[in-house]
Amino acid sequence: MIVAGFQKFSLTDFPGRVCSIIFTQGCNFRCPFCHNGELIPRRPTGRGSIPAGEVLRLLESRKEMVDGVVISGGEPTIQKGLAGIMERIRSIGCRIKLDTNGSRPEVLDRIIMDGLADYIAMDIKAPPEKYHLLAGREVQVESILESMRMIAGSGIRHEFRTTRVTPLLSNADILEIKMLLPEGSAHILQRFNSVNSLDPELRREPAAGAGMEQTGPELL
Ligand code: SF4
Repeated sequence: MIVAGFQKFSLTDFPGRVCSIIFTQGCNFRCPFCHNGELIPRRPTGRGSIPAGEVLRLLESRKEMVDGVVISGGEPTIQKGLAGIMERIRSIGCRIKLDTNGSRPEVLDRIIMDGLADYIAMDIKAPPEKYHLLAGREVQVESILESMRMIAGSGIRHEFRTTRVTPLLSNADILEIKMLLPEGSAHILQRFNSVNSLDPELRREPAAGAGMEQTGPELL
């Protein structure tokens, strides 16, 4: 697994827990509103990566202070060795929240079946007919829907979340997304942070809407 960043402490990213955050390097989407563009290439550019062993050592040394770990990205489910790292984090005694774009249901299936996640947060970028626009590339929407069904049926605490990208998503689109939600699943609308958008055209849009702030990576 390629780790690009590690945030030692957060009170807001894992509901009910004090957590650290691991940011993995690489994403299979190119969302034009992405504000973590440096995490998209499969290989780190500029500031390099952090050995997974070093991250585990840090978590071990901080286990009295944090009781949760968020694995975010980039997209964690494209990482080789993700399940193995989750098993090792579990062995330290930390609970795990996984952030995902939902494009790899086969990876989520293993994680769910092996009981490796305590919380899953999955993005729903857009209604099906617009998914390619918000993901920045062609997407197997059936994989997204399968991941949603799998997560909702897993019995694991979870949330689905959508960034309200005001120039690209209308209120009707948001309503259509809500119609896709499995019954009983939480849906969080996230504020669009236009400042560092991957697409320069979107950087001119003023931030709008309300909701959670997204978190960016920090160096050790
Ligand atoms: S917003 Fe998330 S899924 Fe989209 S490109 Fe950025 S890291 Fe990948």
